[in-house]
Amino acid sequence: YAKQQGQGQSVPFARDMHDGAIARLQLETDLQRAIAHTIHPTPPESQPFQVYYQPIVSLATGNIVGFEALVRWHHPTRGLVSPGEFIPLAEETGQIGAIDRWVMTEACRQLGWWQQRYPAAADLTVSVNVSGVNFGQVGTIERIEQTLRSSGICGRYLKLEITESVILKNTGSALALLDRIKALGINLSIDDFGTGYSSLARLHELPINTLKIDRSFVSRMRGLDESCEIVQTTIALAHTLGLDAIAEGVETAEQVELLRTLDCDYAQGYFFSKPLESEAALNLILAERQLFNKG
Ligand code: C2E
Ligand code: MG
Ligand code: MG
Ligand code: MG
Repeated sequence: YAKQQGQGQSVPFARDMHDGAIARLQLETDLQRAIAHTIHPTPPESQPFQVYYQPIVSLATGNIVGFEALVRWHHPTRGLVSPGEFIPLAEETGQIGAIDRWVMTEACRQLGWWQQRYPAAADLTVSVNVSGVNFGQVGTIERIEQTLRSSGICGRYLKLEITESVILKNTGSALALLDRIKALGINLSIDDFGTGYSSLARLHELPINTLKIDRSFVSRMRGLDESCEIVQTTIALAHTLGLDAIAEGVETAEQVELLRTLDCDYAQGYFFSKPLESEAALNLILAERQLFNKG
């Protein structure tokens, strides 16, 4: 990161590497401390991690159908750290398993609470990201079952988002696990679809429900151009396989219009709402579930 700091002045390479390694080690240590706090419950206000909720909207009705749970880390000195910074590190160090477990438990608890108290939340889903690194660990199914029980939500209101690489790397055992997850009524989505290398043959074999079209394709759409055709083809592929399509990273009214024309089922992005703290998400649920004018 030395390059970003100066106006062209260069830092000796070795020192640069050294500083980077120290910063990384520091972050890893801080992350370990944060994870320890989730294991020994602390009061909510001093929780190191927090789940933000970004609405997912039906393009047919304009209603919120659910939320994606996105983790945030309140670092003691650096403030809010985004997952883009610490998730890759946590994946390398093996800390991701503990983080994902905490996020799933918290997101399910939150949805259970909303569903029990607010009729408007009765049919909402929550989508949780699951890193491929620990996918298929022993006890995964039992833990998910326990999470559903303690939160009081039905499996069909939980969605797990996995990436294409998970399926490519893990073969037989991953498929067996996906089948067991599916048997609990839980929905499976392929996240960032189009950025990996899944073969169509494999896709067809998977017990999945949803393709999430990566933001990179959606944000490049300018009218009926090539990116738009890629999105259109992906939506058609999803429908051919009996799956729903969700467009990620929708930021403009023009994109919403195009996606509706292309028969995309759901959308998510800053145009509708950024990821919100739970109180703000609840306000959205209770106030105005229609996030765009269907025109
Ligand atoms: P993702 O699962 O693809 O999540 C969507 C990301 O796009 C989120 O970034 C979200 O804030 C951002 N986003 C949504 N709409 C827009 C938009 O209109 N424009 C732009 N520019 N961005 C938008 P976030 O929260 O920083 O998360 C980044 C990634 O970190 C996620 O990508 C996911 O891969 C990972 N992640 C987040 N939470 C977790 C978690 O609990 N566990 C694991 N394993 N990974 C997580
Ligand atoms: Mg996701
Ligand atoms: Mg995604
Ligand atoms: Mg993405």
